[in-house]
Amino acid sequence: MAALDRFVAEPARVVVIDARGARSAGLAAAQALGAAVEAQRGAMLVLLSRADADATAAAMAAGATSVLVSPFGADSFVSAVQLANRHAARLAQAAATPALPVLAGDALTGLADLDHMVAWIDGHLAAARPVAVIMLGAARMAQIAMLHGRDVADRLLVAVARRLGPVADGPAGRGEARLLGRLSGADFAVAVASHGGDAAMMTLARALVSAFQRPFAIDDRLIHIAGRAGVALAEAGDVGATGLLREAQLALAKAGAREPGAVARFSAEAEGALLRRQADLESDLYRALSDGDIAVLFQPQARLDNGRIEGVEALVRWDHPVYGRLSAATLLETAASLELAVVLGRHIRARAIAAAAAWRGPLAQLKLSINVTAQDLADAEFVDTLAVDLAKAGLSPRRLTLEVTEDAVIDDMDCAAATLALLRQDGVTVALDDFGAGYSSLARLARLPVDVIKLDRSFALGLVGSEREKLVVSAMISTARRLGLSVVAEGVEDDIQLAAARAAGCHLVQGFCVAPPLDEAGLLALCSQPGTTTSVA
Ligand code: C2E
Ligand code: CA
Ligand code: CA
Repeated sequence: MAALDRFVAEPARVVVIDARGARSAGLAAAQALGAAVEAQRGAMLVLLSRADADATAAAMAAGATSVLVSPFGADSFVSAVQLANRHAARLAQAAATPALPVLAGDALTGLADLDHMVAWIDGHLAAARPVAVIMLGAARMAQIAMLHGRDVADRLLVAVARRLGPVADGPAGRGEARLLGRLSGADFAVAVASHGGDAAMMTLARALVSAFQRPFAIDDRLIHIAGRAGVALAEAGDVGATGLLREAQLALAKAGAREPGAVARFSAEAEGALLRRQADLESDLYRALSDGDIAVLFQPQARLDNGRIEGVEALVRWDHPVYGRLSAATLLETAASLELAVVLGRHIRARAIAAAAAWRGPLAQLKLSINVTAQDLADAEFVDTLAVDLAKAGLSPRRLTLEVTEDAVIDDMDCAAATLALLRQDGVTVALDDFGAGYSSLARLARLPVDVIKLDRSFALGLVGSEREKLVVSAMISTARRLGLSVVAEGVEDDIQLAAARAAGCHLVQGFCVAPPLDEAGLLALCSQPGTTTSVA
């Protein structure tokens, strides 16, 4: 892109994009230049036709620092360029002089820290001013630290802070006071005292979140992170600062389950309903365990060399009579809160093993993978009950794989390793699940008796990410191969990721590109296709 090269090569400070009558081309140009303009602390003025005035927000999100809507005279244009130039000059100056407010507590970003923010909010509430908190979360930070190092992650946080600053300092209602802080890790928050009400705070939250839309330029890397926000409002005497921050955190968790850029509002009714539902679920779980409301689905794993389906992973679901089909996570959390996790685990294993043992025809040779938690492994009867399940159903241990996550083994590595070693002697395969989602190194995990590693879904994305990400993932795969481990790429959704997984040397893939988790009928239908081959071959 010639314009980008020119901008980077010349020490230009202001970019003007004339998008009048060329809305999409103009926005595309703004998008292409946005990161570079920001990295060089420049300004970008976008000219829009009156008919396209509604594209203002899109232009700002793409990186414009100001927008001028036609018709306008030469004077307005010149003063808009001058303003843009001044804006760029201010940015350059701000970068040269570290503008740390005296009150700030976060050494890295110069923003308020948690203590400071709590005191600030309590102060305003005590003075009978309503306060709103917008909690902002940036996804993928742990992974970025792992891929690029702590130093880059820290500089990214500083860049985030710098980008949020102007939005937080943007146009405010009369008498409104705002404070931007970093509470921990990648959790930023804006507190607003004497705010302009619900709608105004949602608008501000959306503006803050859109600051994450463009990638961040750190050195020569462009880093994409997704932002989300949770909003909570309080009157004096309602809740204290800590309560308000917790409500905003709950709202952020709600946004976390939605698409990137989502903004969620804390609502006492909805969150109350959530708690009520939780109570319902807890009382219904006992019933589910005896009534067979628990369904086990099977997701195929296909070989990358010949496309054949070699095995399946058992994934649990809860068919609740009122709430419908609930996720594995909901079921497992409910069981954990009732201390029924071990009982549930046994139930699922027995069900899955019995099902696999009864498979005939095209399913007869399939291997079965079962998820095992730390609690399962710590259960003194784990090995025995598993042996009983296998014997009762008549399933050879050679057809069974146990998937353990590193969290499950890291706490009590020696004990877990001993249990797994015992099972391997009987012919059971051991797979390390979600590999790469945590912080452990392969070297550390090589101590474990493991046959297979399952690369976390984030790596399927890494396989088609930046050059650096690709390098990290391929290095990991070749190390695993040298250690004699079989490598499964998980969460592979499309053909591009599939091709990348194959090129990087993975042995097997599991993901929507092969099939979603299926019931037994669906599995049989899939495996009955000629040659049991899928689109993978
Ligand atoms: P997991 O072991 O990493 O399982 C893979 C998860 O990724 C499954 O979610 C699966 O449905 C989902 N998935 C598969 N292919 C794709 C894809 O292409 N794209 C995306 N985005 N997702 C894909 P699920 O079934 O909701 O299970 C979530 C987690 O719950 C599992 O993660 C596992 O840790 C746990 N879990 C599920 N079933 C059981 C079980 O029977 N016992 C135990 N202990 N844990 C289970
Ligand atoms: Ca798994
Ligand atoms: Ca996994």
